[in-house]
Amino acid sequence: MAGCQRFYRAMLAILLLCVTLQGCTKVETLKEYRKDIFALNTWVNIRLYAGKDGPTILDKAVKRIEEIENRMSVTIPDSDVSRINSNAGKQPVKVHDDTFEVIKKALEYAELSNGAFDITIYPIVKLWGITSEHPRVPTEAEIKDKLKFVNYKDVVLNEDQKTVYLEKEGMGIDLGAIAKGYAADEVARILREQGVTHALINMGGNVVALGGKPDGRPWRVGVRNPRSENMQSHITIIEIMDGSVVSSGDYERYFEQGGKRYHHIFDPSTGYPANSGLMATTVVAPKSIDADALSTTVFIMGAEKGLQLVDKLEGIEALAVTFDKKIYASEGLKGKLTVTDKEYELQP
Ligand code: ADP
Ligand code: MG
Repeated sequence: MAGCQRFYRAMLAILLLCVTLQGCTKVETLKEYRKDIFALNTWVNIRLYAGKDGPTILDKAVKRIEEIENRMSVTIPDSDVSRINSNAGKQPVKVHDDTFEVIKKALEYAELSNGAFDITIYPIVKLWGITSEHPRVPTEAEIKDKLKFVNYKDVVLNEDQKTVYLEKEGMGIDLGAIAKGYAADEVARILREQGVTHALINMGGNVVALGGKPDGRPWRVGVRNPRSENMQSHITIIEIMDGSVVSSGDYERYFEQGGKRYHHIFDPSTGYPANSGLMATTVVAPKSIDADALSTTVFIMGAEKGLQLVDKLEGIEALAVTFDKKIYASEGLKGKLTVTDKEYELQP
């Protein structure tokens, strides 16, 4: 009798286990959810695959982007960046960990690029009014005057206090070349935390992929034709699973005067828009903050020096597009690209 009872109990346990296991492995069908917002001065598009919690996950991502914008915007008066700038030459400013981390990373890239990447470029950005309604070509004297305030070595960080201090009054920082990368990484982190395994985030040319497409194939990111008004027109395609592809170029923000194009990426050694022979750069990296900083850096340094720098960095690849429509690639991308626009020519 006791043996029989034991047998039934064992059967019941197995049955319960089966039911529980089935509950666990039951896969909720994934649906596509999309969100488009304007933030960090650009169009942000998030596309993710999730169960019915998709909209909640999107809301969390948007909140995080807004939080980062409120801390790093140079135009929001009480942002960390604005407070740092208005206290230049006066006192160190305590900032959020987000801001501290991004500025620290920016200074690393300044060192690495020998000052080609330099967030203290803000006085020059402001002088040209490149992001304003009325951009203009300043005089040589004006540029010379503002260049006195451009030097990343005059940014003092205090790791314990989480403070940032600009040593000279008149200095200012601008995280426009790196904050989008950080924000895109943060969105990816939140999505992953929420269990999302397939997503594509695009912040004005800063693309981050989570996993591959739901069908298992990699995401395909088009490298934009820098001389086409059509944003869909591309010159090559980069396939990624988990990682980031970021492009910079003279086509994003510019104005023309006297038949010349003046764009928004400045060479800190001259105070003029970088003129290294490139129209565009694209960087592929595991993290978007690195790809973002480097796409701007390579653009300023030019194809030869820029790609040499990239070749020294582990796990990072890049391509550079010259005015004469030649595409140069870093070592790891050589032989792996296909040109999709016959006006452009891949260099061996
Ligand atoms: P986008 O903003 O079009 O994605 P980038 O990532 O290349 O392009 O960033 C360009 C922005 O970075 C400019 O609008 C300006 O705010 C800032 N910037 C310009 N020149 C430099 C530089 N030499 N180093 C760091 N930031 C720069
Ligand atoms: Mg950048």
